[in-house]
Amino acid sequence: MAELKLSESRDLTRIERVGAHSHIRGLGLDSSLEARDVSEGMVGQTAARKAAGVILRMIKDGKIAGRAVLLAGQPGTGKTAIAMGMAKSLGLETPFAMIAASEIFSLEMSKTEALTQAFRKAIGVRIKEETEVIEGEVVEVQIDRPAVAGAAAKTGKLTLKTTEMETVYDLGAKMIEALGKEKVSSGDVIAIDKASGKITKLGRSFSRSRDFDAMGPQVKFVQCPDGELQKRKEVVHCVTLHEIDVINSRTQGFLALFTGDTGEIRAEVREQIDTKVAEWREEGKAEIVPGVLFIDEVHMLDIECFSFLNRALENEMAPILVVATNRGITTIRGTNYKSPHGIPIDLLDRLLIISTQPYTEDEIRKILDIRCQEEEVEMSEGAKHLLTKIGVETSLRYAIHLITAAALAAQKRKGKTVDLEDINRVYNLFLDVKRSTQYLMEYQSQYMFSDTGEADEDET
Ligand code: ATP
Repeated sequence: MAELKLSESRDLTRIERVGAHSHIRGLGLDSSLEARDVSEGMVGQTAARKAAGVILRMIKDGKIAGRAVLLAGQPGTGKTAIAMGMAKSLGLETPFAMIAASEIFSLEMSKTEALTQAFRKAIGVRIKEETEVIEGEVVEVQIDRPAVAGAAAKTGKLTLKTTEMETVYDLGAKMIEALGKEKVSSGDVIAIDKASGKITKLGRSFSRSRDFDAMGPQVKFVQCPDGELQKRKEVVHCVTLHEIDVINSRTQGFLALFTGDTGEIRAEVREQIDTKVAEWREEGKAEIVPGVLFIDEVHMLDIECFSFLNRALENEMAPILVVATNRGITTIRGTNYKSPHGIPIDLLDRLLIISTQPYTEDEIRKILDIRCQEEEVEMSEGAKHLLTKIGVETSLRYAIHLITAAALAAQKRKGKTVDLEDINRVYNLFLDVKRSTQYLMEYQSQYMFSDTGEADEDET
């Protein structure tokens, strides 16, 4: 059964932006999980990437629940990049939810509700559904002139056009109207008898894909030889538990999925859904696909959240939790106690810890090379050499930021390639942390409220 063509309705211009991690396309591992030196946008950090690959295999097998991984390392050592690499390596069906720990502190919902939603966004459900279908071709329906569509249905020669930006559902409904037959609703699969033009409803079908939201509901038209149902077909939908929650939460409705304005979801709704999903699993109709929940800057969570995580990980449906932090020994938020990475010892004990190491000069050079390609910036060898030195002296992030700025400087002097002078120019225009701090030390007395030892001495 062929799908109706939807390309025309989705022919929209896309604006692609180059993000901080857009050059990362995977973890760059070979089939035996060894990290290639430079691959899929990833450079070096081989031990951490290999470890992440092992976790990935665990996720793909889908058998182990409640495992948690901590990516720990200095700022800019690629923790988020590795998490992005993991996300890219997972198939479309495995959910990957990503939040920064600070996002859960909102006035709209409690911390535990925000965490629960994040967890449920990372748990997928594969629902298998048997639908009866008729073997046959898809009938395409011309909608611009309904009368013509009606007449053409009988001959079985129809063309569906979506040029006027109508959803396929609208067109389908119009077509049925034009034929003067029964109404169809979104997702219905119908058969049109070739000879009589009689319409039979066959069931419902939603094909789930990442493009689904943009597409809207579909109506499929099947042209059959004699209106007989001929075979059963298995349709698989992949949704997350969070999506099921939102759709079933009467106060929100499914539109909240688009706006993200989901508010709090009542515990009873979730209980009902969990019971239903458990039933489906028993009947063999559904299976759970545990995905990944990535919490960046995890030290921003407080003691209540950490205790929530401890418990949530014990659920058999729990996703793999990946958390990242660049903190050393620091205070656990909400307490006066210090702990490694600001994470309580009991949670730390459950975590598999992957540490990231600072980059060598050669690795920084390779990452900068990849970023130049990603940002479509041509740079002379000399300029790359200098930028690498700057990266070693300051930070990888600072050096990455200078690429675009230097390209603009080159553009301004009408040069095609970024040269030494452009790097020098932007290096002097924009300070890195070290120079900025040095400047502050020199001029701190002229700043407002500067908290210096001298001021204290003045007061006493
Ligand atoms: P922080 O602790 O400050 O959050 P981080 O460890 O998460 O830092 P990233 O944001 O992942 O660091 O890295 C900084 C930049 O360098 C990003 O643009 C990232 O994509 C890039 N990068 C880091 N490591 C690698 C790598 N191994 N290969 C390619 N690019 C990398």
